[in-house]
Amino acid sequence: MELLLRGLIAIGAAAAVSASAWRLGALTARGAVAGTLVGGTVFGSAGLGPAVVLVVFFVSSSALSALPGGGARSRRGARQVLANGSAAALAACFHSLDAFAELALLGAVAAATADTWATEVGVRLGRRPRSILTLRRQPPGTSGAVSLPGTLGAAAGAVAVAGVGGWLVPGLDGEAVIAVALGGLAGSLADSVAGAGFQAVYRCPACGTSPEVARHPGCAERALRVSGLAGVDNDVVNLIATATGAAVTVLALLLV
Ligand SMILES: [Zn+2]
Repeated sequence: MELLLRGLIAIGAAAAVSASAWRLGALTARGAVAGTLVGGTVFGSAGLGPAVVLVVFFVSSSALSALPGGGARSRRGARQVLANGSAAALAACFHSLDAFAELALLGAVAAATADTWATEVGVRLGRRPRSILTLRRQPPGTSGAVSLPGTLGAAAGAVAVAGVGGWLVPGLDGEAVIAVALGGLAGSLADSVAGAGFQAVYRCPACGTSPEVARHPGCAERALRVSGLAGVDNDVVNLIATATGAAVTVLALLLV
């Protein structure tokens, strides 16, 4: 009975946050359903502290992307929400079984935050980013291109989540907080490496742009893949980043 009540409260709270995000234009309707699933799982299984950390990620990232200078802003869909949130939700499912699950959860959220803050700061302030693998100059916003402001944004995001986690999640000591910050940074690094290394790059013969997906908005023509692996888009890269954040956080704590 208590478990059922707890589940209902978790789903209800997650639905309320997701519905507000939909109303404010941050999520699509399907994105809000995915947000309810991820948020409800985290709140219901891991408790209030980790759920608030997840909200900090989501609100800060949406607020940064709403700032001027970042180009066209679009609502986040279900696939995007799951790419950023499913590693955290999966870790939450093991919360009652293993103490490391909570750290994996926070590491995944730290990675998602570091990566989003890096992108939002880098696109606005990183004038001439370089590919993390070839070091060649790239246009701002290119996957796998890094700049000093973007990298500082990543560090700030990882440290912010680690700090809020240390404050709100009971039993988290200083070493755990450092491990979460390291995991977040490592996840953001993995995002850049995967983005530069094997994310699919498209080129549209009709409008000449380089969209992130073959079917891009506002154009009838299908863009052609010029490099990278088919099917590896930004969402797949984000999934790799959050999983890396979770794994490195646990490893960092085991090794030190
Ligand atoms: Zn086009």
